[in-house]
Amino acid sequence: MAATLNTLWRFVKRLLIGALLIVVIFAVGLFFISAPPKANSELLFVGGDIITMAGDTTTEAVHVKDGKIIAIGNRAELEKQLDEYAEIIDLKCDTLLPGLIEPHTHPIASALLGAAIDVSGFKHNNRAEVIETLQKAIDGPQLSEWVIAFGWDPVMVADLTPPTLAELDELSPDRPMLILTQMMHDAYVNSAGLRAAGINRDTPNPPGGHFLHDANGELTGTVREVSAINVLTQALPKPPTGVTPLLVNNQLNRYAKAGYTTVGVLGPVGRSNDPLGLLEKLSDRASVRTITWALPDQLSSDAKPTTGDRFSLRGVKFWMDGSPFAGGAAWQQPYENSELVRQRLELPENHSPTLNLQTTEFEQQFLAYHQRGFSVATHAQGERAIEVVLNAVEKALALSPTDKQRHRIEHNALITDAQIQRAKQLGVELSFFIDHLWFYGDRLPEIIGDERLQRYMPLSSALSAGHKITVHGDHPATPMNPFRSLRTAVQRQSRKGGQTLGVNQTIPMRQALEAMTINAAWQLGMEDKVGSIEVGKTADLVRLSANPLKLPVNQLQSIEVRQTWLAGQPVDSRKISRANLRLLLGVLGKLGGKNQQ
Ligand SMILES: [Zn+2]
Repeated sequence: MAATLNTLWRFVKRLLIGALLIVVIFAVGLFFISAPPKANSELLFVGGDIITMAGDTTTEAVHVKDGKIIAIGNRAELEKQLDEYAEIIDLKCDTLLPGLIEPHTHPIASALLGAAIDVSGFKHNNRAEVIETLQKAIDGPQLSEWVIAFGWDPVMVADLTPPTLAELDELSPDRPMLILTQMMHDAYVNSAGLRAAGINRDTPNPPGGHFLHDANGELTGTVREVSAINVLTQALPKPPTGVTPLLVNNQLNRYAKAGYTTVGVLGPVGRSNDPLGLLEKLSDRASVRTITWALPDQLSSDAKPTTGDRFSLRGVKFWMDGSPFAGGAAWQQPYENSELVRQRLELPENHSPTLNLQTTEFEQQFLAYHQRGFSVATHAQGERAIEVVLNAVEKALALSPTDKQRHRIEHNALITDAQIQRAKQLGVELSFFIDHLWFYGDRLPEIIGDERLQRYMPLSSALSAGHKITVHGDHPATPMNPFRSLRTAVQRQSRKGGQTLGVNQTIPMRQALEAMTINAAWQLGMEDKVGSIEVGKTADLVRLSANPLKLPVNQLQSIEVRQTWLAGQPVDSRKISRANLRLLLGVLGKLGGKNQQ
């Protein structure tokens, strides 16, 4: 009897503990997710600076209904039209802008590399510190079979000579190790990593990429350009089912938190079996719209551009040259012969890299995608690379004239005035990687000399030629911060401050803001829907703690993003949101054995 009572008591106790646990989990869950920002189908924004970005107009009030902007103007007038259930949002002297648009970023790579060992110049001052971080991570708990590090930066970290294969093998003799450089155009891999990826001295280079060899033909462990790095990333172990969507969704939240409502995915790079399917699947509940330019090998032969509201496949992405900071930029004149270029980047005297792609082959592919209705975006930093792209556009347009696609050139570090003019005539859009000046401006004289630095990322010249220019952060190549990019576009200073790097190329704040709103909408083919506060457009909005047009330029980075709205709905960009929890439960369910794939 006592034994039975005991058993019963143990049973009841377990039941009680179980019930208590459930209550606690629910309470915690409710605390975090029960109160997403209040949603109302009709809103009136008042009480702050409202910058429409349609011309240089401001307005007193914005009336939003069912996701659309239905009126702007005088507060008292608009209040009269309000439904009784409408919510009046008092901005309390904050500033309302159209949601920011990032025209060139990589959410999947950002999401996955966010989990890698950070060896970046943002956190390390010298080589010893970088190696110490690597060693600690290798000796520490092992989450994955591979050691994956990101951010190796020989330009920002002054004594960072490249690692030799022997050094990599000594650091990690057994576990495969992959170190990606900050600009993601170079990677270093140890012998175990080469073996795991099936790369040996006889492995042919993929198109546009290189597995570097020494004088004896042995692999050095250095891997150059995206196509070759992709061979390595494809060999990485798959994360558990469901983890990648969760991480990517978190990354999309980060854009919303930073003030963006739309992002251009200029090549969905990063380990994923079906990157386009993943972005499309997440788009229903994601915090931002994603407009995608796919890699050629991610597109089936019958794939067509799409025009979805939250996700669309707009184009295809090519890399014509590489990064200025890895010796890959195809300048007209060679690289400088500085210590940085010769010793740390290990480049030969008068270095002048070959282009990643064969001209004729590129022109054929360009024409084919052009005729299938895709916008072609091509990474081109140096004048030689840009020239090849412009030639390809000209030939494609001669055979199939259209002004619909808005082909793009990405980064444009040393685009010349003549090329800017030619791009304008051909309807080619220009997007600039302005943050190079902030992070690397002090080192650029060692790479291209002072004279060429004056016209590096020539925003002003492009504006004068009538271009609707944009600026981008190319994350994870730089940490996300639109206000730093704005500041750099206006001021052209490095993060150390001081000298203006190219006085003739600074631009006014309003034009910099246009580059991140209305112009970016144009480059993404979304100008009818987003990019400005105008009647008929979708209510994608961002509330800022200060007006960037009134703030001293040096204080731009103090601006806080208070809230974004996507189609009139406040975006829940908290770490634990409903969309995240759904994905997290999916992961737990799969780890628990259900739905194993
Ligand atoms: Zn990029």
